Parts: sequence; C-alpha cells; structure tokens
Amino acid sequence: MSKKILVTGGSGLVGKHLKDILPNAWYFSSKDYDLTECQDVRDMIRDNKPDVVVHLAARVGGILDNITYPVEYLEQNILMNTNVLKQCHKYNVENVISILSTCIYPDVVDKYPMKEEVLFDGPPTPSNFSYGLAKRCTAAHVDSYIKQYEKKWSYLIPCNLYGEYDKYSEHNSHFVAALIKKIHEAKDSIELWGTGKPLRQFMYGGDLARVVKYFIDNNLVGGYNVAPDWSYSIDEMARIARIACGKENLEIRYDSTKPDGQYRKDVDSSKLLKLLKDFDFTSLEDGIRKTYNEIKNKDILFRVNK
Ligand code: NAP
Repeated sequence: MSKKILVTGGSGLVGKHLKDILPNAWYFSSKDYDLTECQDVRDMIRDNKPDVVVHLAARVGGILDNITYPVEYLEQNILMNTNVLKQCHKYNVENVISILSTCIYPDVVDKYPMKEEVLFDGPPTPSNFSYGLAKRCTAAHVDSYIKQYEKKWSYLIPCNLYGEYDKYSEHNSHFVAALIKKIHEAKDSIELWGTGKPLRQFMYGGDLARVVKYFIDNNLVGGYNVAPDWSYSIDEMARIARIACGKENLEIRYDSTKPDGQYRKDVDSSKLLKLLKDFDFTSLEDGIRKTYNEIKNKDILFRVNK
C-alpha cells in the first residue's frame, strides 16, 4: 500500500518542486489550515491520518522583513513547528521530516563549512535572529522526540534556495531571484549592494525536493545539512548568472556604501552524502539557466511589474 504523504507549505517554492516529483502527495497551504492555530493542526493530522508529514511551512522572508517583524518571525515559526510536532506525536505519524535552514547556525564559527555538531555553538546572525532561533528550536524539539519517544523523525538544514517557483516581486525576493530580474531588465549594467565579496551557498530548489523524497522513501532519523560542496562570492555568482541569462557583456558595479550582510554560513553535507553517495547537485550555472528559461517562457518576469 502506498504511503499517505501530507506536505505543509505546499504552495511555496519547495512545495512546488516537491509536487513536480511527488504529484500524489497532499499539498496544503495557509488557506487550508493556519498552522499557528493548534485546532487547525489537530484537524489536519487527525482527519487526514498521514503516514508521512513533510513540514515545509514557515514564515519566510527577506532581511528587511526579518528586521521589521522579529516578533512575528519568532512567534509564528515556534507556534507552527510546535503544533505540527505535537499533533504528529499525538496521532502517531511514523515519519516527520521538518525543513529548517542554515540560518539556524551560529553567526560565526572557527571552522567552515559548518558541520551539524556546531549548531549550538553561538547565536544566529542578528539580522534574522528570531527566524534562526525559532527554527533552531525545532532541531532540539525533533532530537528530544527521538530521545524520549524513539521517533524515526528527521530534519533537513538546507542552504539558500532558488528556482522557477521563487518570488519575483521587487520587495521580498531572495538574492538569486532579484539578481535574475535585474539582469533581465538591465541594458548595460547592474548595481549590487556591498563589496561583492561575501560567500554564498545556493542550491536549486529541485535538488532539495529530491533529498526530501529520499527521506520519505527511507525514513531516516536525525539532522542533516543539505547543500552543494561549493560556495561562491556574490561577484562570482553575478558573473555566472549573467552568462546563464545570456548577457555576458553586462557590467557589474557595486555600491560599497550599502551593507554586505553575513560574510559566510556555508555548511558541510558529508553526513548526508554518506547516504546519498551518487547525489548530483545541479551546478549554479545550469540551475540559473533552467530557472531563467522557465520564468521567461511563462512571462513571470514581466507580469510582476504590471
Ligand atoms: P515559501 O515559498 O515562502 O512558502 C511558505 C509556505 O508556508 C507557503 O506554502 C505558505 O502558505 C506556508 N505558510 C506560511 N504561514 C503559514 C501558516 N500560518 N499556516 C499554514 N501555512 C503557512 O517558503 P519556501 O521557500 O518554500 O520554504 C520552505 C521551507 O524551506 C521553509 O521551512 C523555509 O524555512 C525553508 N528554507 C527555505 C529557503 C529558501 O531560500 N527559500 C532556504 C532554506 C530553508 P501560503 O502560500 O498560504 O502563504
């Protein structure tokens, strides 16, 4: 008999990538159940009786939103994650896979890329402290369920993501989405914030979906970083993106009066890759090219400006 798979946050970037490869799972959004409400989460789990819950839903946003609404980031994420884990325990869900983020790691550590064991070695970066801390609690929460109730539950800690299902509106887009849009609209040059020197680790959203599917199929236990083994400076990323979008000659300028943000937060996925030995991460150039072609064909880049 096939497993009944319930996905929270099904209308988001990761949910849509997962739906591409697992079309028969149930995908819910806040329109179906508000996961900050305990009763809603109880109804969702009790009425659907899933064997597997993939918990993607979160209050997610850019730096400005994180700095402006730290209370909402802390409260909504803690409520959603606590409600989901508690009700999954109450209704004996066999496999729960929670998706966290490398934002949960300490702002600065001695050694990069970071392994899972340094997770509690310092506070998350100040700009998204509430989001990072709320999601870090979920790691401790899942670990506690594993210890106390011997649950076969897991959590994945992915690096930054991008893909065709990202948000392409001006104000709340992630870095790669904003970069593609800038390159697409530029005539001769683009200007980026900061010095271009900070390192960033980005993964194509479809790669994370493939890892989630592996965890659904194999019911693994504990926490795992998920990221390719490369990171690039912002400047290297912009150069790769301009090639992938077919604008090799575009000039890239920097406004160094603007902040650089966190210098690096790259993680080491060797624990995961011991299990998924042949896993191939999509290269940044291929991923951006695929993303650009998809959104250009669907006219998404133009639609948001109308
Ligand atoms: P997203 O595109 O912003 O989607 C968020 C999802 O959460 C949407 O389906 C949204 O539903 C749902 N949601 C938000 N508040 C809710 C509530 N109160 N009740 C029920 N559902 C609610 O997020 P994503 O980029 O797919 O991220 C998925 C997961 O990956 C998150 O846990 C995030 O922290 C993690 N992650 C993301 C990135 C990244 O770069 N995107 C990187 C690392 C980790 P509506 O559509 O109805 O609002």
